[in-house]
Amino acid sequence: MVKIKKDDSGEDLGFDCPICKKGRLILSKHIHELPDGDKYLIMKFECNKCDFTKNDLIPVETPIKPGKFILHVNEKEDLKSKVFRSSSGVLEIPELEMEIEPGPAADFYITNIEGVLSRMKDAVLFFKKGLSEENQKVNKILENIDRAINGEFKFTLIITDELGGSYIVPVNEKSLKIEYF
Ligand SMILES: [Zn+2]
Repeated sequence: MVKIKKDDSGEDLGFDCPICKKGRLILSKHIHELPDGDKYLIMKFECNKCDFTKNDLIPVETPIKPGKFILHVNEKEDLKSKVFRSSSGVLEIPELEMEIEPGPAADFYITNIEGVLSRMKDAVLFFKKGLSEENQKVNKILENIDRAINGEFKFTLIITDELGGSYIVPVNEKSLKIEYF
């Protein structure tokens, strides 16, 4: 039997809805207990204006403290590791020369590594459209992002969060290093 306990009624995160841009995202948390005793926190994000909802699962033991999270992505399986970047988190992939600075509130996201890569690819393609001529470096980065998406390019994903709230839930525990501040 799976038990779901509701522990609060929802808090306003101060984030605008990414879909309708008018509503606010409300977060509610539930503790979900698996039959083997593992506990997960279910975070449900809901827009108060439109139908947008998003769920995520985090192991309850995950501490949410300021720190540096370093994930080594060595195989395709690692791309399923989950990433939550709060609005204070800087996300970088040095091997791809990518860095996402803390942005406006609406820019936060929860996704897996694959999601991060495809977002980066969209950003580079957008940048490329604005170029007047072919740029070898940009082409190389795009090529490497594609290889990374296919699990053929090893890289490091680093989130540095001075305020806390960002975290990574790795598929393979050994691939994640955390340095708390
Ligand atoms: Zn909405």
